[in-house]
Amino acid sequence: MRAGPSQEDIRRHNLGALLRHVHLGGPISRAELTSKMGLNRSTIMALTSDLTAAGLVREELPRETGRAGRPSLVVRPESARVYVFAFDVGPDRLAVARVGLGGVILDRRETVRDRGRFELDELTGTLAGFARQMRRKTRDDTVCVGAAAAVSGGVRKADGVVSFGPNLKAEEVPFGEELGRRLGLGLPVSVGNDANLGALAEHSRGVGVAVRDLIYLHGDVGIGGGIIASGHLLGGHDGYGGEVGHMVVNPGGRACGCGSNGCLEAEVGERALLESAGRVSAGHQGRDAVRAVVDAADRGDIVAQEALSRVGDWLGLGVANLINIFNPEMVIFGGMLREIYLGSAAQVRTQLTLHAMAPQRERVRLRTSALGDAATLVGAAELAFAHVLSDPLEVLARLNA
Ligand SMILES: [Zn+2]
Repeated sequence: MRAGPSQEDIRRHNLGALLRHVHLGGPISRAELTSKMGLNRSTIMALTSDLTAAGLVREELPRETGRAGRPSLVVRPESARVYVFAFDVGPDRLAVARVGLGGVILDRRETVRDRGRFELDELTGTLAGFARQMRRKTRDDTVCVGAAAAVSGGVRKADGVVSFGPNLKAEEVPFGEELGRRLGLGLPVSVGNDANLGALAEHSRGVGVAVRDLIYLHGDVGIGGGIIASGHLLGGHDGYGGEVGHMVVNPGGRACGCGSNGCLEAEVGERALLESAGRVSAGHQGRDAVRAVVDAADRGDIVAQEALSRVGDWLGLGVANLINIFNPEMVIFGGMLREIYLGSAAQVRTQLTLHAMAPQRERVRLRTSALGDAATLVGAAELAFAHVLSDPLEVLARLNA
C-alpha cells in the first residue's frame, strides 16, 4: 500500500501555491487567499508567517478598506529582495533582465548579436558580464533564487542542451551548463525554447491569462511556436514539441534553414517577406527591416502590400492547420509576427474561412502579444522562478546554507 502525502508534503505544496498566487496575482489579502485556496484562516496565517520569515513576502495593513472591523492583512511579494536572472538569446539580440518576485523587471540590458556565428564563450561571457554589472548594483540583503534562458532553438528536455538552432547557428551546445559556470552563483541555468517561453509568459502574465488552450506564434528571423493545451505547455517526447515554424505548408516551396522546403517559417519568415518586397540588400535585415515593409504597405506601397498579402496567405494556412489540430481558444501573434499579422489580418482570416473547420474557427480568438518584445524574457523569468515556487523554503534554505 502506498502512503498518501505527508503533512510535510502538503505544507510544501501549500507554501508553493500561496507564493504562486502572490507572484502571479500581486498583492492579495489573507481573506482572499483563504477563499481562493480553500484553506482555513489559521492555515493561511501559518503559511504566510513561514513565507514572511523566509523573506519571500511581507504583510501589511491595507491602505483603505472602507469597511468596518479589523482589516485583513495584505500579502505582497518581496520583489526588490528576491529575484532571478532571465536571459534571452535571439538571432539578432541578447537581453538580460533581473526580475523580482511578482514579475517586476528591476534592471535590464540588451545588446545586438551577430547572427552569422555562434561562439559559446563569447556569448555566455557577455551575458554573465551583464549579470555581474547588475549584481553589483543590488543591496546586500537581496537573493537570487534562479536563472533561466530563452533560446531561439530546440532544447533537449533530458539535459537542456540546445540541440539545433539554425537561425542562431547553434548545434549541440551545452548552453545552460556553460552560462551557469560563468555566472558562478551556484545555481543551475534552465534553458527553454524562446517561443515556448513566450507562450508561458502570455499565459501567465499576458493576453492569455486564464486561457487554458492557446497557441503562441513567435516571429523573429524564423517562426517559433508554443502550444498550451489544458493549461500545460506541450513539450513532446524530447522537448521539441511546438516547432510549428517547420510545419510544411508549401511542399516544393522556398528552402528552409532546417533543410526542408516550404516550411511555414520559410514562407512567412523575415527572408520571405523581404525578398517578396524586393528589399534584400546588405545590412538590411532584422525587425526594423520587417517593420519598414509593414509601414510601407500601410502608406500604400503596392509591392510591400503584395509581399505582405502573400506572406499573410501562408500564415493563415498554417494557423488554419493549427486550429484544426489543437482547437485553441486563442492564437497569439508575437515578436515580428505581431506587425505581420496586423498588416495581413484580412488574408489570414480568408485562409481560416477556406481551411479551418467552422466550429473551431468561429470560437477562436486571434490576438497580438500583450508583452511584445519582452515576452520571451518574461517567459525565461517564469522558468527561473519555477524552483522557488514549487518548494520555497527548501530553495531559500539551500541558498542560505
Ligand atoms: Zn524548416
